[in-house]
Amino acid sequence: MTSTRYPNALAPIRVGGLELRNRIFVPAHTTNYGRDHLPSERHLAYHRARARGGAGLVIFESIRVQRNTVGRPQGVAGYDPRCVAPFARIARAVQDEGARIFGQIIHLGRQIEGEWERTVSWGPSAVRWSPTAQLPHAMTPAEMAAVIDGHVVSARHLREAGFDGIEVTAGHGHLLQQFLSPASNRRADAYGGSLANRLRFPIETIAAVRAAIGPDMPMGIRISAEEYLEGGLTLDDMREIVVALAGAVRLDFVNVSHSAYHASYSLATQMADMNVDAAPFRALPAAIRAALREAGHDMPVFAVCKFRGIAEAEATIAAGDADLVGMARAHLADPDIVAKAIAGREDEQSPCIGCNQGCAGMLERNLPLTCLVNPRGGREGDMKLPEESPAATPRDILVVGGGPAGLEAAWVAAARGHRVRLWERAEELGGQLRWIARMPHRREFMGLRDHLLARCARHGVQMETGRAADLAAIRALAPDLTVIATGSVPVASALPGGGTVLTMEQALATDASCGQRVALLDTIGEWSSLSLAEHLAQTGRHVTVFVPVAGFAWRTTIYSTLATRRRLREYGVRIALLRMARRWDGTTLEVEDVSTGAIERLCGFDTVIEAAYNRAEDGLFRALEAAGLPARAIGDSLAPRTALEAVFEGHELGLAL
Ligand code: SF4
Repeated sequence: MTSTRYPNALAPIRVGGLELRNRIFVPAHTTNYGRDHLPSERHLAYHRARARGGAGLVIFESIRVQRNTVGRPQGVAGYDPRCVAPFARIARAVQDEGARIFGQIIHLGRQIEGEWERTVSWGPSAVRWSPTAQLPHAMTPAEMAAVIDGHVVSARHLREAGFDGIEVTAGHGHLLQQFLSPASNRRADAYGGSLANRLRFPIETIAAVRAAIGPDMPMGIRISAEEYLEGGLTLDDMREIVVALAGAVRLDFVNVSHSAYHASYSLATQMADMNVDAAPFRALPAAIRAALREAGHDMPVFAVCKFRGIAEAEATIAAGDADLVGMARAHLADPDIVAKAIAGREDEQSPCIGCNQGCAGMLERNLPLTCLVNPRGGREGDMKLPEESPAATPRDILVVGGGPAGLEAAWVAAARGHRVRLWERAEELGGQLRWIARMPHRREFMGLRDHLLARCARHGVQMETGRAADLAAIRALAPDLTVIATGSVPVASALPGGGTVLTMEQALATDASCGQRVALLDTIGEWSSLSLAEHLAQTGRHVTVFVPVAGFAWRTTIYSTLATRRRLREYGVRIALLRMARRWDGTTLEVEDVSTGAIERLCGFDTVIEAAYNRAEDGLFRALEAAGLPARAIGDSLAPRTALEAVFEGHELGLAL
């Protein structure tokens, strides 16, 4: 399907001998939907939805080639013959929707820790990826041969299952890249040292896969065009490496990403969040493509990272910077990107806001992938679209509160045919998003608010701002159900001493609310406190963050924290761990060193801010219950958490009404 608006992105293309219906693909991305190391029905529903939504190609995630790289129960084992039957069902489901499916085969090397399978981590050398990681075992030639065999067996299983192509992972800091990179390969044998030696194992692996699947099945590689790592691979290195790989083995495509799996800024670029400018990543596939073309290789080059919609893909492809564009998080937020573009309904696309909370945040906790903006992401098999499940009996619903929970519940209920009215006490809708968005680097959260408002408007929700709700007003309106989404309110500090302690919201109220020498007492380790520390530093304040535990930003994801840490360091923000504030009199801040119990008396601060959990605003809910009026509470009014939980609970309740 071509489009006059997107003649490049929606044009068909050949990869090897295979035609794809357009140039938009879903890159391989971990979902944690596997069960007992096998692909699941959840995988099937998830990928079928994206194929139905119009993507030309789906690349199935991280298919592990050996037992010592499955890592967790959700890791899918391509070496296990039991994978063939479920993979065949998934392949058919995707192909029946008109898309094609490739399988990404992978050995993750040193960053797989063996707690689940009681295995040891393998790497080219005994070099850790993180200061808290296990030390890997430096692989022997026999073990390298076993890894090659695992790639071959896995690729054969995928071919048997009817997959259309294979992607061999030589990027994202996984095993083959660990061999390529001088930062992780310190070997003194024929597989380390010179570039020719470091190329040897990746070439042997990729060549063995090609020999196993034959010349006709499309096969390509995923690479990192830049490691963003001291002593690691640069773009110039990778231009040489990719040409060498393409010269050694026939490749039908090269999928260009970046980063190493390394506990530094490098890893943060892999799932770059809303704070990271994507511009530097856009140049990478273009440079790799140019190097390949100069060397006489004309295979398609794929580009990924933070593409949000077809318009961006069109611009990249039209400029000749890449031949296909991949969107993982954007497709998680909205499986129908291509279908909506074809129908001219791009304005209805649910936007990925780059929060990393539902995706990276869940993966890090070994939980199934989901999405803050799209609660149905990963639940396509058992959660219906609101429009597909009309209410048996349309009812009058009053939603009290216009934050993420209330807005989500309102549009979902209205889409199902209920008559929905929403009252918001403030003059502006958005709830806590309003103050979060005062920080420029969190402004993409306004995309969530705008998206929810547009959905409410489209489905006819009657929204009234400046409208407070109380028992009498609700009795007078007499709705069939009141949904309480009143959120939460900041709690004043209980710190002794009499000095003013600001809440996060107060600190952001105006530019003048906060002084220049700030002590931020972080007791929550959440996105909000992390963002506030950065915002204050960015606006020229001297910031010290006091944390009562031994970690920092413990309720956020490493993919974002590593980038934020780098910026905080540039701003000179001091992070004092194991420090509990005990007293503030406006001049002296007394802080306990939790490890020794000693009290430090610190002068020089003019502002103290406490990042603490709010109090649930649940008075109206309790009053309605006591009066015997039908009510349900969602989001922060149940217990203060994040927008992720708020949107999910709003959605779930909207479907249940
Ligand atoms: Fe994008 Fe956030 Fe959804 Fe992840 S959770 S896909 S970053 S909107």
